[in-house]
Amino acid sequence: MRVVVIGGGIVGAAAAYYLTGRGASVTVVDGGYQGEATQAGAGIVCPWVDHPEDDDWYRLNREGARAYPGLVEALGEDFGYAKVGALLVAEDPAELEPVRSLLHRRYADAPEMGEVVDVPAPAELFPPLSDTLSALLVPGAARVDGRSVRDALLNAAVARGARIHAGAATLTPDGEVRVHAAAGAPSGEGGTWTPGGGTGQARNEETGSWRQAAPRGPAAAQGPDATQGSQTGPGRQAGPGRQAGPRLQAARGSEVVRPVAAGAGRVFADEGVPVEADAVIVAGGAWTGEVCRPLGAELPVFPRRGQILHATLEGVDTAWWPIVLPSDGPYLLGFPGSRVVIGATVEDVGFAPRVTMGGLEEVLQAGLRIAPGLAGATVTETRVGLRPVYAPGRALIGPLNSRVVVATGLSAYGLTAGPYAGRLAAALALGETPPIDLTPYAPTCL
Ligand SMILES: Cc1cc2nc3c(=O)[nH]c(=O)nc-3n(C[C@H](O)[C@H](O)[C@H](O)COP(=O)(O)OP(=O)(O)OC[C@H]3O[C@@H](n4cnc5c(N)ncnc54)[C@H](O)[C@@H]3O)c2cc1C
Repeated sequence: MRVVVIGGGIVGAAAAYYLTGRGASVTVVDGGYQGEATQAGAGIVCPWVDHPEDDDWYRLNREGARAYPGLVEALGEDFGYAKVGALLVAEDPAELEPVRSLLHRRYADAPEMGEVVDVPAPAELFPPLSDTLSALLVPGAARVDGRSVRDALLNAAVARGARIHAGAATLTPDGEVRVHAAAGAPSGEGGTWTPGGGTGQARNEETGSWRQAAPRGPAAAQGPDATQGSQTGPGRQAGPGRQAGPRLQAARGSEVVRPVAAGAGRVFADEGVPVEADAVIVAGGAWTGEVCRPLGAELPVFPRRGQILHATLEGVDTAWWPIVLPSDGPYLLGFPGSRVVIGATVEDVGFAPRVTMGGLEEVLQAGLRIAPGLAGATVTETRVGLRPVYAPGRALIGPLNSRVVVATGLSAYGLTAGPYAGRLAAALALGETPPIDLTPYAPTCL
């Protein structure tokens, strides 16, 4: 069976990996769009603290987290996965009680979270932390390097015969795939759909999730940045210098046509190169709605920007520091190489994958408030990504018609559930029964 996967983020890469594992002939098409979420993601895998009122959302993320150790073993590669634990921190210990009850309730079905314990002095585990904080430790939480996972999945898929095309894919109304060398520009307002006009109101206090997953703070208050779409959207950096990772370099230039037009309205002067397929998986992240529009499907998928900062603490071994999760505001996590990651903003500003002064200020201020010991750390990198959000609320995984499957909407949890979502999409494309009931994630906007 021939399957084309549109999108080479963590979801598309995983789909390709599982499809090739089932013997399918796979082509991955990726446009190297600026703002791809996977390259920016922090890497927290701790699903048990969120979505207290949404068992379907939770189940998907729990299964995603549960699948990681098996994936590490199957790929046989170090992609930065480590069970370092998560410290849920609060100034007032009373604030920890709701999440303690939630974890207690979920423990029976998810013992892999480990036994939750009180940590009276969290700075003993994460030295830069303020000594005014109280914490709970969730020992089973892990961190992972999203870029490395994606690359490992793609490499394994390629080793099993997958082909990778660098280029922008479009669909015809019949679901045929065409590949263009350049991405074109977003089609006006249609490319920048945001809920409520772009200034999201929901807060995690309303959702009851421990982690902040909806817009807040000064960076989000900038309002819609839709006009940036034509400047910083997918087409702008097509060609050398755009964000496509090393994984796409080999394919670039050989099998795709030259860019012809990249003006407003995402117009391609060429008809694109057709790619034969029996089935198509659209894993286009925040751009999925646009990809599926020719099918007559208006999918309310929109980008939620996240700006994130990397710093180093010279000479300090940060590799086994736990993740630090306040209920609101920036989180912190350590990686090998004396690296600490602080993130992230949560902004509904359209397709504007830019690092802004306001975004950095928000992350720095809140980060230093809970971890003043980071004041002397060296800022080494900033990243920005567009989380793919499906407006009805949870992930979007299901068939759009008899040959096209869609898999996106993982929002702030795609590094947790992404590999698993790719596996589910692969099963659907192959006509197999997925391991969980996908009814809750089926497209509802056809
Ligand atoms: C700052 C930040 C921090 C995060 N932290 C975490 C975290 O700690 N834990 C967690 O679980 N999740 C986290 N996430 C969320 C996670 O990164 C995303 O949910 C996940 O990466 C989404 O993966 P994806 O494959 O769906 O989309 P993407 O990674 O965005 O990939 C989509 C791909 O599709 C391609 N594409 C789109 N349209 C086309 C087209 N027409 N033709 C060809 N290619 C196309 C793009 O080039 C892109 O590469 C974070 C995200 C951000 C931005």
